Amino acid sequence: MTEPTSRRVRAIAESVTLAITARAKALRAAGEDVIGFGAGEPDFATPDHVVAAAQRACADPALHRYSPAGGLPALREAIAAATGRNSGLDAGPDEVVVSNGGKHALFNVFQALVEPGDEVLLPAPYWVSYPEQARLAGAEVVAVPTDVASGFRVSVDQLEAARTARTKLLVFCSPSNPTGAVYPPEQVAAIGRWAARHGVWVVCDEIYEHLVYGDARHVSLPVVAPAARERCVVVNGVAKTYAMTGWRVGWSIAPPPVTRAMLRLQSHVTSNVANVSQAAALAALDGPLDVVARMRDTYARRRTLARELLDSLPGVECPLPDGAFYLFPSVAGVLGGPPVAGRTARTSVELCDVLLETARVALVPGEGFGAPGCLRLSYALSDRELATGLDRIADVLG
Ligand code: PMP
Ligand code: GLU
Repeated sequence: MTEPTSRRVRAIAESVTLAITARAKALRAAGEDVIGFGAGEPDFATPDHVVAAAQRACADPALHRYSPAGGLPALREAIAAATGRNSGLDAGPDEVVVSNGGKHALFNVFQALVEPGDEVLLPAPYWVSYPEQARLAGAEVVAVPTDVASGFRVSVDQLEAARTARTKLLVFCSPSNPTGAVYPPEQVAAIGRWAARHGVWVVCDEIYEHLVYGDARHVSLPVVAPAARERCVVVNGVAKTYAMTGWRVGWSIAPPPVTRAMLRLQSHVTSNVANVSQAAALAALDGPLDVVARMRDTYARRRTLARELLDSLPGVECPLPDGAFYLFPSVAGVLGGPPVAGRTARTSVELCDVLLETARVALVPGEGFGAPGCLRLSYALSDRELATGLDRIADVLG
């Protein structure tokens, strides 16, 4: 039989983050004691007032029906208002599309903006879904590598060296998944000015906006570089900020013509996001941010603890990231060296296999993020699991 699936979809890989999370969960379901550092997902329950709002929404017959494909009007208003409060970006509800998570919002953006053959600049390490979504839209992905020395932050010079006449857009993620890097305001402004100067669109993924530590501060690119605003799409969501990954609510904020294109697309693909989830997101955005501050304080404590231990292991170099809830150590000093638990790991994929099989800890290899030689750990897991998991890693690599 000839290959039944489309070339387009054959060309993309499964999400490595979701695959590893599923593998760890399956092992646990089979009775194995696995600690999952894989999923980038808060271990906290969704705040009570959000759950209560969703329960009320379940009982409201008006919400048992289809609603506007781009989101409940009250939620679009609340998103515009919260964006103004949180980042200072002045956006109207007509610029907002509510989607099934930030991931779906990003998919809409690539579909709406990219023509086959356009080039998409991805500072690497990048989140796994960017290149695949860009390719699905027909783009050519141009990775712009960064390293530990630069704090995993791309410079304007690097972007300029990668720019061609076909460069359509840059994906800019700060705080970053997978590295946790947070760009200082002046560097964000410089990148925004560069993009504006050359007519390059910027997709600003701000999903970790509230998760910054110490003196680091998140700034929104179109706020600090207003010249870039007319070619800027901001993507955000409730998943990370409010511990709501399973509710599937994210959004884009884009200039009205792009928003209208995404609305047309979404009206044929998914229609509205589940109304109960939208009601929950509304309660989250209209509610207090102190619940977020409490979660952030916990992440901050775990970040220091986990980083210190990892950085002390031979062959492991672990920078202290300023945001998100990931550590992204280089394990270059371990790879190809003396056997680890009786096996020689030549790549970070192999090292992750060894760690899962012998230490029962699930980590994500850097390959999926365009950074072989590194591993990603999420520290958004309970204190007890974190301590046990780190002990297990130290037993194998220490
Ligand atoms: N962007 C980044 C950088 C992420 O880490 C995630 C979470 N996987 C998303 C977007 C999408 O989040 P969600 O679809 O859960 O809202
Ligand atoms: N953002 C998370 C991660 O990177 C969730 C999994 C996913 O959607 O890829 O692990």
